[in-house]
Amino acid sequence: MEKDCTFCKILSGEIPTAYLFENDIAVVFKDIKPIAPVHLLIVPKKHIRSVNDLTADDGKIVSAMITIARDMAKKLSIAASGYKLFFNVERGGGQVIFHLHLHLIGGWK
Ligand SMILES: [Zn+2]
Repeated sequence: MEKDCTFCKILSGEIPTAYLFENDIAVVFKDIKPIAPVHLLIVPKKHIRSVNDLTADDGKIVSAMITIARDMAKKLSIAASGYKLFFNVERGGGQVIFHLHLHLIGGWK
């Protein structure tokens, strides 16, 4: 846990947040600034700064995040119509919170 990390504060309960899903690896909650009708964040419980900081051991975390995103898309009935999964990497790539997270967006008509 990082003291000044917003997502670590969410994970510790310091910032109360409604989870749409939780398991031992990650949690899912809504982006507070959605850019699509459905905009979820898949956030690992382990503090990893960005994609640039991933180690070989983190591979199973990333694959679990993608599987969770896929399952959330199914659950929200946007799997068939289609969705996007993406990581913003570093400031130039649009990363605002430096705790790894996967964006799931979709739900367009
Ligand atoms: Zn963190």
